[in-house]
Amino acid sequence: MSSLRMPLKYIDNAKKILCIGRNYAAHIKELNSAQPQQPFFFLKPTSSILKPNNGPFLIPKGVLVHHEVELAFILNKELKNLSESFSPQEAIDAIEGYALTIDMTARNVQNEAKKKGLPWSIGKGFDTFLPVSEFIPKSAIPDPYNVDLQLKINNEIEQDDNTNLMIFPIHKILSSMSNIMTLEKGDVILTGTPKGVGPIVEGDDIEATLSVDGKEIARIECKAELKPGFYEYKET
Ligand code: CA
Repeated sequence: MSSLRMPLKYIDNAKKILCIGRNYAAHIKELNSAQPQQPFFFLKPTSSILKPNNGPFLIPKGVLVHHEVELAFILNKELKNLSESFSPQEAIDAIEGYALTIDMTARNVQNEAKKKGLPWSIGKGFDTFLPVSEFIPKSAIPDPYNVDLQLKINNEIEQDDNTNLMIFPIHKILSSMSNIMTLEKGDVILTGTPKGVGPIVEGDDIEATLSVDGKEIARIECKAELKPGFYEYKET
């Protein structure tokens, strides 16, 4: 690739991070959520990215953190007002590459927000709430619907599923999102978490892997520590 067209190597080039919610049936059930009729999403700030080997995952005081391991993809072009006929192949053509991610969630903050009709920004947006792997070249994932995602806490398997369980496929996610906001080159899109979400506490070792046909393609490793600063969870 020529130096004039730099590859989008790092997901911290994203202008925005869009996260599909409730995209795996067994996860919807474990949280007693309703299955959406169409894709729904929320945004995470780019400041929540925790790059590989860049320090610990930080737990805010008083927060019940849950891990949500997810496949993310990075766009290679702008997408706007796509029609319903936007095809699976066109969606793949719009992908620059992938990343393994953990959508960390302040579950007690989010549960209160759900109950009171408040936004999810706090529950999803703390610094380090998006650990990411290194960029995964597109060629390493021939089929985004055949990817194994696994997450371990202190070497115990908590999440272990395949992306073939996704409810809304990528082309449907993109056509829906692109009619709400313009999707820009470099944007990162998380495709939802399978079942098995659960708590992380101070001192935990977090390990996630992404594999294709039994071969490990990417990993995340970090330790959980208490977040410095003055935030402490209090009911809104
Ligand atoms: Ca999620």
